[in-house]
Amino acid sequence: MTTKDVKTMKIAPKVWRNGEFIDWDNARVHVMTHAIHYGSSVFEGIRAYKAERGTAVFRLTEHIQRLLNSAKVYRMDIEFSRKELCQAAVELVRGGGMDECYLRPVIFRGLNEEKPSFGVNPFPAPIDCYMAAWDWGKYLGEEALESGVDVCVSSWTRTPANSLPAVAKAGANYMNSQLIKMEAILGGFSEGIALDDRGYVSEGSGENIFLVNNGKLITPPLGASILPGITRDSVIAIAKELGIEVVETSIQRAALYLTDELFFTGTAAEITPIRSVDRITVGAGKRGEITKQLQDVFFDIIYGRRPAPNNAPWLTYVNDTEEKKTATASAKE
Ligand code: PMP
Repeated sequence: MTTKDVKTMKIAPKVWRNGEFIDWDNARVHVMTHAIHYGSSVFEGIRAYKAERGTAVFRLTEHIQRLLNSAKVYRMDIEFSRKELCQAAVELVRGGGMDECYLRPVIFRGLNEEKPSFGVNPFPAPIDCYMAAWDWGKYLGEEALESGVDVCVSSWTRTPANSLPAVAKAGANYMNSQLIKMEAILGGFSEGIALDDRGYVSEGSGENIFLVNNGKLITPPLGASILPGITRDSVIAIAKELGIEVVETSIQRAALYLTDELFFTGTAAEITPIRSVDRITVGAGKRGEITKQLQDVFFDIIYGRRPAPNNAPWLTYVNDTEEKKTATASAKE
């Protein structure tokens, strides 16, 4: 793909690499990079929104913490602190003049050109850390947020936690996700839901899943080989604030067909209703009431129109200088 092709999307012209900003065109790796052969990368997906008071990154600290956790699982020593990585993200959005964007930090095992090593052993490969940003519209389509999507249950099992731990957002996990996604697309569905190795519902190829039954939210527990989704966590906090009961429990495949409402959560997918599973209509076959209520509150928070539950600092405004932050804090005192 040429840069010109890429630039049909709005992308931040600079990429953050190991502590400095470089041009998009120079953000390249060698074909013998360890991660290309052996899947040795961990990454994040983060969104920034044009909130009422300016562009703000949603739950930046939590995303960067999850990135560091993923790196820790794979014994990748990072020379940057959580604060430095958050700062890099803010500068990337601000410097790129992005109103809204998707941020992609990625840490991977690279190539030491002086002393190459091409085997599986990851230790000799240096750790590289990059962050790029681009304008990414609605992941499952513009209409999906309202009308819902048609999905299937995948014939592929989610990788068990003692094989590729879902708690780490590793590039290699997404080979499993790709099998799920390809099968879904070729079957005429927008997305696939994987069951875990015990046959219980785990998650979509890139989303967590929630059922709404008798007014309660039901979602697989963190033990069910799922990524600890930050949108999942946000939805749980919002539901609790709204007085909606949340139950984290094992879910049978058939329960997906019988529930009143069903939806995906994810940074890319946000809160996307599901209107059918395996061509069986879910509930009324359109976005349900509770899904809509949660979506409305979620978007109000994201766009800075409503505080997060317990006034948690979910938004990081990219144009807030340290002085401005201090001034706002002291004005509140
Ligand atoms: N599960 C998987 C497999 C994902 O890739 C994602 C997207 N990061 C999610 C769940 C949702 O996580 P989050 O809400 O943190 O984006």
